[in-house]
Amino acid sequence: MRRPYPTTIAGSLPKPSWLAEPERLWPAWRLEGADLDAAIRDATRIAVFEQLRAGIDLVTDGEQSRQHFVHGFLASIDGVDFTSKVKRGIRGDRYEAECPSITGPVSRRAPVHVDEVRFAKSLGESVKITIPGPMTIVDTLYDAHYRDRKNAALAFARVIREECEELVAAGVDAIQLDEPAFNVYFEEVEDWGITALDTAIGGLNVIKAVHICYGYGIEANNNWKKTLGTEWDQYARLFPFLSQSSVDQVSIELAGSRVPPEVLGLLRNKDAAIGVIDVATEHVETASEVLETIRIAEKYLPAERIWCSTNCGMAPMRREIAYAKLQALGAGAGLARDHAMLATMKRSSPA
Ligand code: ZN
Repeated sequence: MRRPYPTTIAGSLPKPSWLAEPERLWPAWRLEGADLDAAIRDATRIAVFEQLRAGIDLVTDGEQSRQHFVHGFLASIDGVDFTSKVKRGIRGDRYEAECPSITGPVSRRAPVHVDEVRFAKSLGESVKITIPGPMTIVDTLYDAHYRDRKNAALAFARVIREECEELVAAGVDAIQLDEPAFNVYFEEVEDWGITALDTAIGGLNVIKAVHICYGYGIEANNNWKKTLGTEWDQYARLFPFLSQSSVDQVSIELAGSRVPPEVLGLLRNKDAAIGVIDVATEHVETASEVLETIRIAEKYLPAERIWCSTNCGMAPMRREIAYAKLQALGAGAGLARDHAMLATMKRSSPA
């Protein structure tokens, strides 16, 4: 049985500067070949160690082996051509990016994350792998083959499923699909987004999570958030559909955001991994601040359905800040556990 207020992170942690350029979203590797492979393993050891040291229950590899959260997965997919990049607006034209092209039917050349999961499992007891979701993948590529977002997404969903089945066999405990694009394309979510999600992970015998956020704490996202008004209504539009999907857990942004917390009530039967750590600020939360965010969520969700997490990945942050935030996450959840135990003791001992 899991302990109350279990903790996890959205996925990524900063890479050491001997592995890749620091504080960059698309960093260049510092090494190559066997040296790079060895350095990635060492960085993974640190990423897992820092999570365990902070008391995080469900750890990730910190995404140390991928340059970018979407393209790391696509690098092993046939039909995606990284030599033919096309500039396009992504996430509803929030950014312009040089996107690789889909030039043919997509298929896996080889397992993508199986080795990473095996390695992470040798370091931590409970391991989550993050994979970009079908809609977010399609929104980060130029499509010269399918020329139809739905068909392309469903093709990627089948590729992801193949990968996930091997990850489950390799012993992964949780699979999280990252779908920040869900927060932008609501009609597509209803039309085919949930179908693609279910095609990718429905029925798998692990914790099945989807992460939907307002992005890393980078300028383009911070500017976008300023246009969203005082109450962000995106989750309210998505949760009714997600509540009917096969996912077990929805990972969302809450700390420091303008997400109205009552939307959590729309998750119905799903667990929520609530972001109690803001990744858009260098302020390191105190344990009490984390507890406050947990208490807000508890007004709308039973405690047993609450996981504590970060709002988003921490890849572009300074390492020492990210590690301090991990400590805050662990300490805040610990505080919530202590309070819950005290309350139980008070109830069971007669006055
Ligand atoms: Zn995110």
